[in-house]
Amino acid sequence: MTNRTGITDLIGNTPLLYLREASELTGCQIYGKAEFMNPGGSVKDRTALGIIRAAEASGELRPGGVIVEGTAGNTGIGLTLVANALGYQSVIVMPQTASLEKISQLEMLGADLILVPNAPYSSSQHYIHTARQVAQGRAHSEPNGATWAQQFDNPANRRIHRDTTGQEIWQQTSGNIDGFICAVGTGGTLAGVADALRAHKPAVKIGLADPAGSALYSHFNAPPQAGQGQSATAQSEPGPSTTAQSIAEGIGVSFVPGNLDGLSVDFSCQIDDDTALPFAFNLLKHEGISVGGSSGVNIAGAVAMARELGPGHTIVTVLCDAGSRYHSKLFNPEFLMRHKLPFPAWMAS
Ligand code: PMP
Repeated sequence: MTNRTGITDLIGNTPLLYLREASELTGCQIYGKAEFMNPGGSVKDRTALGIIRAAEASGELRPGGVIVEGTAGNTGIGLTLVANALGYQSVIVMPQTASLEKISQLEMLGADLILVPNAPYSSSQHYIHTARQVAQGRAHSEPNGATWAQQFDNPANRRIHRDTTGQEIWQQTSGNIDGFICAVGTGGTLAGVADALRAHKPAVKIGLADPAGSALYSHFNAPPQAGQGQSATAQSEPGPSTTAQSIAEGIGVSFVPGNLDGLSVDFSCQIDDDTALPFAFNLLKHEGISVGGSSGVNIAGAVAMARELGPGHTIVTVLCDAGSRYHSKLFNPEFLMRHKLPFPAWMAS
């Protein structure tokens, strides 16, 4: 048994899980990176560690300092765990609509939690703007200073996924990988993994699975404007959000995050909740793997990519967090009925 010296040593090195239903449906080998096994329960533990380590290295985060972030929840949980372990304080700004499970977990971990209304990005009350304002205020009032994590544009986010998630996938597949696909919240996972895999194997296909209501699918599929590259197209109403058309938390944006700068994708698809949710439900019921809504979008995306590539290919996606984080929403028949979403009979019994 290997002894670890602290929680930061438990982040990453997650298993790659064979996804039976998705693989059998397509004749491909489809795997999910089991990010729900990180100590904070999500892929965002990696981002939290990457951002805190970079802020320490630059001197922006001083001993005993405060790290502030606006988040749909998982980054806040990761940041708070790492902050607790390394002697910092976290201030987490979240939309009130985030799942009760995430809110209560952050309270339990001791985050200084600020809940804001679910406002559009154009409003100063949006959780990201609030986080920036809080960080500016705390930078003056805190004895050891405060820093804003800024996960949508912080290069440390994409970098940690390039250096850990992407390298792990390359090693775990022994380089036998044809495609990688996932949804985007901040884009750190997609862009970082793409950087790592393309460096090893330029022909690997990188795919985007975009939830309904998100702007990225049209961004990547808009015809390039004269004199501009792909990343300069199709700016819609700016600002990241969980979209109104999907119950999946942590994914879907109404602008193009800085983390995606220079990224091109080989494949993209739009996934609505009616398509995504059954993958999450079946995975729990038939394979014993409990995941949240964004993982359902990712698996549906992997299936779409597999159909495009044809049988015999190996495709990897991400199981971002666990279903237990959404018991009151994704696994609650009343909630699903209210949102006119499908649920299996076993859930109601
Ligand atoms: N799924 C969940 C549940 C998340 O919390 C996030 C983070 N926003 C993502 C997917 C997307 O990850 P990324 O920010 O790296 O795009």
